[in-house]
Amino acid sequence: MDNKVALVTGTSSGIGLHTAVGLAARGIRVVATMRDIAKADPLRAECADQSVDLTVRGLDVTDLDDARRCLDAVSAEFGPIDILVNNAGACTAGTLEHLDTAALQRQLDVNYLGPAALTRHVLPSMRKAGAGRIVNVTSNGAAHGQPFLDAYCASKFALEGLMQSLEPVAARFGITISVVEPASVATNMTENLDARALFRADDPYRELAERFLRTAQAEMAEAQSARNAAAVVVEAATTDTPRFRWQTSPTATALVGLSLADLDGGNVAAAMSRWLD
Ligand code: NAP
Repeated sequence: MDNKVALVTGTSSGIGLHTAVGLAARGIRVVATMRDIAKADPLRAECADQSVDLTVRGLDVTDLDDARRCLDAVSAEFGPIDILVNNAGACTAGTLEHLDTAALQRQLDVNYLGPAALTRHVLPSMRKAGAGRIVNVTSNGAAHGQPFLDAYCASKFALEGLMQSLEPVAARFGITISVVEPASVATNMTENLDARALFRADDPYRELAERFLRTAQAEMAEAQSARNAAAVVVEAATTDTPRFRWQTSPTATALVGLSLADLDGGNVAAAMSRWLD
């Protein structure tokens, strides 16, 4: 993996931070991106702890022109991107009555349209090289809906649908596409959760929403560490035996397994690949 170039989104905290450091520890030249580079101190501290080096760049996945400029500048400076990790994500809580079209759109922008645009932008150079890895951090909520996470799950379903459709075609050009599905991970996701809609005093869903939040908090008490979840992302990005679908913990495997029998994505990948024979 020496001399490979990886770009990771959303590295100011959590899974993205540890993925960037984990890839750098494998000798990969990592460009760790975040929307506000003033928030790079925790990443730099972890790099110092692990004695690794990487490059930090600004990238907001919802600013598509800026994102394209960033990818072009990275390719010009470091060479073509070999590994793209679409990790950046955000979560809005609410049942559909709480979610206007703007709220649904915001979730699609960050969790679906941003990763789609970044992936489209790196595909030509990967296709010409006949190699490349695209790893997407999705969620168990990409395989099954979750109450009060309607918009989040929809955006993660969309990303997995896009990537699973792309996978057999990209594979014909030597490009590997994967999704990594964490369940609860102890990160800033809970602090960053946009749950404003759930706390209106006269909301008919309020009692149910409070029950949901209690369940979510209890799950968070058992959450996997960001470092452990990131180790699976690093494995998906670097393994010699790539596959489409990864879960980061037994809890994630159990939850994804409620909806899916094809837990590593191999059955769908093989069946869809035959459509191209
Ligand atoms: P986190 O600590 O909140 O990290 C999310 C990262 O995404 C942050 O760096 C955040 O940057 C960044 N981000 C948000 N909006 C962005 C944008 N528009 N452009 C660029 N970056 C943006 O949470 P995390 O758990 O590590 O989340 C990483 C991924 O794991 C997400 O895709 C999430 O959906 C997924 N996931 C998490 C869990 C969990 O329980 N934690 C479970 C399943 C899936 P700022 O610091 O600027 O906000």
